[in-house]
Order: sequence, then structure tokens, then C-alpha cells
Amino acid sequence: MDFIGKSTCLVVVMFGVFIAGSVYQQNGDISWKTIPAQEIVRTVSKVPEVERVSKVPEVEGWEVTGYCPCEKCCGVWATRGVNTEGSRVTSSQHVIKYGTKLIAAPKKYAFGTKMNIDGYGTWTVEDRGGKIQGNKLDVLFFEKSPDHRTDLEYSHQLALSWGRRKNVAVEVY
Ligand SMILES: [Zn+2]
Repeated sequence: MDFIGKSTCLVVVMFGVFIAGSVYQQNGDISWKTIPAQEIVRTVSKVPEVERVSKVPEVEGWEVTGYCPCEKCCGVWATRGVNTEGSRVTSSQHVIKYGTKLIAAPKKYAFGTKMNIDGYGTWTVEDRGGKIQGNKLDVLFFEKSPDHRTDLEYSHQLALSWGRRKNVAVEVY
């Protein structure tokens, strides 16, 4: 762009700013210049979250079973599912932390897929299992024990108390 081109462009931009500024001054009692930074931050945080649109609408008829990282639930994977740092990991190599809501789902649901299990919140697909096919899901329990049991023992009890629930409604995001 030559000099004339640049200055024309600058004049047009400045004129635009001037017009926008005058319109703002005339129509509103505050101009953009007078809005303090905190005000802007507050306004932005008030913007409602974009409503999640589910890819697959809620479907009933899922069979959801509780499991934990123990040997009774995972067999050989209880010891194989450990990374080089010694942390327990899922099939996706996601480190299992206490209290995170992870699920094992059939392969058609990519790792990272969110699923809302009716009444039990949103869980993330990070694991697989040989028996997890069709409309079956396994929900992982790994919690810190509030009593004197080991965390694994406690998590296993939680998994057992979930048991196997049939005809559960699940929404896939
Ligand atoms: Zn277990």
C-alpha cells in the first residue's frame, strides 16, 4: 500500500471511530471510555453459559455397572493399568485421581466424550472394557476413604453399592 493509500485508510478508520463515538455519546448516557475495567469483567462473567446441545438425545435402556481400579473389578488391568510414575491410569492413559467421574464406554464413544447419567451428573469416557459393548457403561469409583479402610477397599464398596443398574437414561454430549 502506498502512502496515499495508507493515509486514506487511516482517515476512514478515524472517521469511523468519530461517528461511532458520537452515536454512542448521543444515545447512551455512558460512553465506552467511562466504563471501568471491573465493570467490563463483571458484565462478561454474567454472560450465560452456552447451552450444551447433546449429540444423542437422552436414551433410556442403558445398563450401568459400578467398578473400581481393584483386581476384583479390573483383573490383570489392576496391575497393568499403571503408568511409569506408578499412577493408576485408564485405557486412554488418563491418570485416575480421587473423585473424578470417569466411565468405560464402547469404542464408538471417543475418549473425552461426556455423558450425563440420569441423576448422577456428567462423566467422561476415558476407559474401555471387553464386556462393555452396545448399551453398557461402567462407572469408575475411586474415592478417598473417610474411615480406616484403604482407598481401594472403600472404592470397591462404593462400586458394589452402585451395583448394576438397568434401564438408566443417558445423554451423550
Ligand atoms: Zn473393585
